Amino acid sequence: MESAPPVFDKPKVELHVHLDGAIKPETILNFGKKRKVCLPADTVEGLLQHVSYKEPLSLTEFLAKFSHYMPAIAGDRDAVKRMAYEFVEMKAKEGVIYVEARYSPHLLANCKVCPVPWGQEPGDLTPDEVVSLVNQGLKAGEEAFNIKARSILCCMRHMPSWSPEVVELCKKYRNDSVVAIDLAGDESINAETCPEHRKAYEEAERCGIHRTVHAGEVGPPQVIKEAVSILKAERIGHGYHVLEDEGLYMQLLKQNMHFEVCPWSSYLTGACQSGFANHPVVRFKKDGANYSLNTDDPLIFNSTIHTDYKIAKDFMGFTEEEFKRVNINAAKSSFLPEEEKKELLYKLYGAYGMVKSTEF
Ligand SMILES: [Zn+2]
Repeated sequence: MESAPPVFDKPKVELHVHLDGAIKPETILNFGKKRKVCLPADTVEGLLQHVSYKEPLSLTEFLAKFSHYMPAIAGDRDAVKRMAYEFVEMKAKEGVIYVEARYSPHLLANCKVCPVPWGQEPGDLTPDEVVSLVNQGLKAGEEAFNIKARSILCCMRHMPSWSPEVVELCKKYRNDSVVAIDLAGDESINAETCPEHRKAYEEAERCGIHRTVHAGEVGPPQVIKEAVSILKAERIGHGYHVLEDEGLYMQLLKQNMHFEVCPWSSYLTGACQSGFANHPVVRFKKDGANYSLNTDDPLIFNSTIHTDYKIAKDFMGFTEEEFKRVNINAAKSSFLPEEEKKELLYKLYGAYGMVKSTEF
């Protein structure tokens, strides 16, 4: 990874990163060995050659990366907890002071989940216990590394039958690390044809659970429209293709909708093919839109948050001032309760030399 000093070496906020796309290769190898799970390699370098990549791949090829290593982690209590703990450690080292990590509890379970994912043998780790273990790992990480970490539970577009339980888990664990619900996966499956997703989001809204949706990453503006009007999304995961519908974009700008932008990810997934200089985030920046910079799946993209900031600086004309604005917007659009949000903002203003003491 990068040897040069980080381009923005100040406290940061990250809102869009998948826990199961941010596991340490050493941990995968360790649990693969312990559990006698066949992995494509037995060294970090060897493993990375299989699970990470540097040139754009199709969605199917990208998703296949998870199947290389998830069998080593899913279904194992220690692995799930360790993954969450080390995630916080990794983010603290990158200078992130507040992070929202997302994952599908079902994809880490091997019991009370149908089908049992990753070809695992059925076991006794339920999605409910997965959430509890992740919470324990995140909390231990917060204490050890002195940053704040919360979580977002993902519904999967291709598995609507899981969504009712996802929202129930959000409710059960809302005072214990979980702050929101997400919808991830193949955008060609729309939520209107899956009443389970819609119902889960309605229930989330009814209970005051925050909502974000992966939309307009590779899919058309219609998916974003649906996320906002039907699922009542408060933030949009990616959202690049909003620019293909000027009216919708103007409406979302006016609403101050937050876009969770992942530059390096958007190149490798083929979501944005116009080159970094013409990337949608350049327009977002020009228009003073509300967005954040995020890694998405740093294990698979062999990256850190510094990779995304470096791309933004080197190819998209980002300045120190814009990086500050981006992080302040991220904090304001975070799913923390108001008081904790103010505290986070206060920390950023202090670190950025922007005194706002009278307001807080
Ligand atoms: Zn994502």
